[in-house]
Amino acid sequence: MTKLLAPVRAAPLVLLALAWLSCQSTARSRPVGDPAALRYNVTYVREPEHALDVEVVLVRGSPREFLFSKPGGVDSVQVWSDDGEVRSLRVHEGAVRLPAGTRFLRYRYALDARIREKGPDFFAGMGEGDARHVAGREYLIRPRVVTPALRVELYVEGAEALLPWAPGEGGLYRLRGEDLVDSGFHGFGGRRCHVGLPDAVLEVAILGHFTRLDDVAVCAWLRQAAEEVRTVRRAFPYPRVSVRVIPVPARGSSSLFGMVLWSSPPSISILVGQDAEAATLERDWVAVHEMLHLAHPVLLPRVPWLSEGLATYYTEVARARSGRQSAERAWEELVDGFTRGRARAGMRTMEEAVSGSDFSLPVYWTGALFALHLDVELRRVTENKRRLDDVLELLAERGPTSTFGAFGVAVDAVAGQPLFDALLARHLPRPAFAEMEGLLEALGVRADTAGVTLVPARDSLLREAVDGRRTRGAGF
Ligand SMILES: [Zn+2]
Repeated sequence: MTKLLAPVRAAPLVLLALAWLSCQSTARSRPVGDPAALRYNVTYVREPEHALDVEVVLVRGSPREFLFSKPGGVDSVQVWSDDGEVRSLRVHEGAVRLPAGTRFLRYRYALDARIREKGPDFFAGMGEGDARHVAGREYLIRPRVVTPALRVELYVEGAEALLPWAPGEGGLYRLRGEDLVDSGFHGFGGRRCHVGLPDAVLEVAILGHFTRLDDVAVCAWLRQAAEEVRTVRRAFPYPRVSVRVIPVPARGSSSLFGMVLWSSPPSISILVGQDAEAATLERDWVAVHEMLHLAHPVLLPRVPWLSEGLATYYTEVARARSGRQSAERAWEELVDGFTRGRARAGMRTMEEAVSGSDFSLPVYWTGALFALHLDVELRRVTENKRRLDDVLELLAERGPTSTFGAFGVAVDAVAGQPLFDALLARHLPRPAFAEMEGLLEALGVRADTAGVTLVPARDSLLREAVDGRRTRGAGF
């Protein structure tokens, strides 16, 4: 299932509007791969303009119903059959049914034509010079029904690609069918850097040019964000994650917008104003926020207030733990967010305030307040021995996806007593942010017009344990 995680605090970003199928009569021969797998050959075409030519080689028993997860990018596919016939099939509402005896199909995703038609688009296509960014679901056709046994080989030529997956020998990607369903973000061309952490690697593609930043600074910024995730979890949550950075013309130099797209592993892409400076990246919260979404399980069905709340809470806390911002600054950001969230929520209950738009201010900040309260209560009932980090660690041991119910069970397991439902009852059915003043007072977080001061209070030791400097997460 596709999971979109978008921040709403990003400054508005202004993006400036920025017979072709191969005539070979036979598909390229199947190399070393698995004879039972579907084979995708993707070619990045540069002339006369950028496009992606896709060839899918079928095997006996291949499915015949195919579709584009996001319809609209491709009108027709060419189909070659055993009997030597070549047909052009129209794609109808994103779907196409292949005739019996189909050996392979080909189509072109006209990347630059799409960009002309739609304007630069995070999903349908954008880029600069020879580099392009696109979501896999826009251009990759896939079987309508993907069985767990379906294996896929994918090969890219014509440009260096950064896909969510690690390429194997000879650049061949060996995938499961479900990787075609949740295919993440893809980058082609551009420049690369490689951020090595003690327990993980970030593969980074820079898809365009900055006026005031070099690639070393961009990769140092992503390293810092990844290190901050490691103040929450014992290890970076995935051994290898791909990050695409796309410089874009933007009003001002500080605009950033990022998103994690669910794939296995998840893939991250971030838009950065092309005139951004080193100080812009130092102040940035978008990269660490997106990477913190890797630290919690994907909740299915989705519960945006909880996933955004966790990432938003930890965005401030992790930057204090790393020393990038002071504890006072972290609490200022939290109090400011709660205040803005409350202004937007008005008299509504938390439950009402988080319904409707998935990415409204109340979704982020009622969720962050709940996450803070949960962390404090876990510490309080365990005499500061356990914490919210431990809940994420416990859930991670159980796999990359979870449910709201399982999250609550994990909270109670870490607490050693029932805690989650009672805390939920103090938030969800009551006016949004009703718990805010009492919680901040107990923590010794005093906010007035002059800013935030941190003072001794009943739970100020717990507060110091939340934001205290550290380099590693739970259990350390
Ligand atoms: Zn988010």
